[in-house]
Amino acid sequence: MNRGMSTAHLTIDLDALADNWQALNARTTAETAAVVKADGYGLGAARVAARLARAGARTFFVAAAEEGAAVRKAVGPDPMIGVFSGHMEGDAGILRANRLTPMINSVDQMLRHVEQLPGHRFGVQLDTGMNRLGLEPEDWAQLREIALRQNPALVMSHLACADEPGHDMNRKQLRLFKEMTDGIKAPRSLAATGGILLGPDYHFDLCRPGVGLYGGEPFDEAKAVVTLDLPVIQVRDLAEGETVGYGNSWTAPRACRIATVAAGYADGLHRAMGRGITLFAGKTACPVVGRISMDLITVDVSGLDHEPASLQLLNRLQTVDDLAEAAGTIGYEILTSMGRRYRRSYVSCSASADRAVESIRDKLRRRPDLLPQSLAE
Ligand SMILES: *Cc1c(COP(=O)(O)O)cnc(C)c1O
Repeated sequence: MNRGMSTAHLTIDLDALADNWQALNARTTAETAAVVKADGYGLGAARVAARLARAGARTFFVAAAEEGAAVRKAVGPDPMIGVFSGHMEGDAGILRANRLTPMINSVDQMLRHVEQLPGHRFGVQLDTGMNRLGLEPEDWAQLREIALRQNPALVMSHLACADEPGHDMNRKQLRLFKEMTDGIKAPRSLAATGGILLGPDYHFDLCRPGVGLYGGEPFDEAKAVVTLDLPVIQVRDLAEGETVGYGNSWTAPRACRIATVAAGYADGLHRAMGRGITLFAGKTACPVVGRISMDLITVDVSGLDHEPASLQLLNRLQTVDDLAEAAGTIGYEILTSMGRRYRRSYVSCSASADRAVESIRDKLRRRPDLLPQSLAE
C-alpha cells in the first residue's frame, strides 16, 4: 500500500473500468462508445481510453478538440473521436491533425466546417429540449437536407433527466428526437449512462456512457474504479473535552486518538463533506472529525489497535457517490475534482474479492451498530 509515501495516492483499476464498459455494453444491442471528457472524468483520458479500446470500444467522445489529441495518441488511428463542443473558431487545425469528428452544434458551426474543412467527417448534435448544445428543431429543418447529403457520422442528442427514469422529460425528448431523425440513414445516438438504463427505446445505434464506466451512479451495478490512500502525518491522544481543527467544531466526547492525514479541499476533497464520511484502515471505518482544511483531514482512529501509515478515503466500501452525498454534490464532481497532487497508479486487479466486500458493505448498511460508536452518533 502507501507506506512511507508523503502524498495521497490514487489507484485506478483499469479492469474494473473495462468490466463496467462490458456490463453497459451487455445491456444494449447498440454500439457502446466511451465518454472520456475532462481527462477521463479525472482519471487520465489516455490510460482510460487505451484500456477501453482494448475492451472493444470503437468510438470515444471528448468535450473540446484539445482533449481529443491525447485520446487520438492513446487509441491509434481507427476509432472515431467525437467532440461535443463541435467545430469552434480556431479548431480546424487540431481537428484535421487528429482526425477528430466535431459534433456540429449550430448553423454557424456547419458553415465554418464546410468552409474550413470540406469533406472532413462530422456529426450533428440536436437540441431536444435541454437547451444546452445542439441545433434547435427550426435550425435542423433548415440544415437537414444539406447536412444529411454529406453523410454525417452520427446524429445525436442528450437527455436532461435520464437519471430520473420516471421523469416526463425523457419521453418528451425521445419523441422529439424521433420526429427530428426518423427515416434518416445516418446512425443515431441519444443515451448516456442514464439513457442506457432507461431501456432499448432510448438506445438507437450508439450509446455514450461516461460516469457509469468510472463507477458512478446512476449505474448501480458499476464496480468501484478508484481507490484513494491518504498518508497519516501524525497521531495524537486527546482527553475528553479537547477540540479538533478550525473553529473547534468537534469536541472529544471521551479520551480518543486522532490521526491527521495529508489531503484536503485543495485536493478536491470538498470542505462540505466534513462529517458523515469515514476513512478506512483495512475494513475498519474511522470517522472524519473536525473541519476538512486545505491540506489536512483529522480522523478518529480510536477504534484501531495500531497506528496506521495511511487511511483509505475511496474504495469499494465508500464510493464516489457516498462522498458526493456527504458533500451535497454528484459523483461526477467528486471524480473530476480529484487533485492534481495525487500520485496516480493504474492497476489491473482480479475482481474476485468483489462479492465479499459487497457483503460487508451491505452488513454495515443494515447493522449500523457494527460501526464504531462515534460514527453512529
Ligand atoms: C457527458 C456527456 C455524456 C456522458 O454522460 P454520463 O452521464 O457521464 O454517462 C454523453 N453525452 C454528452 C453530450 C455528454 O455531455
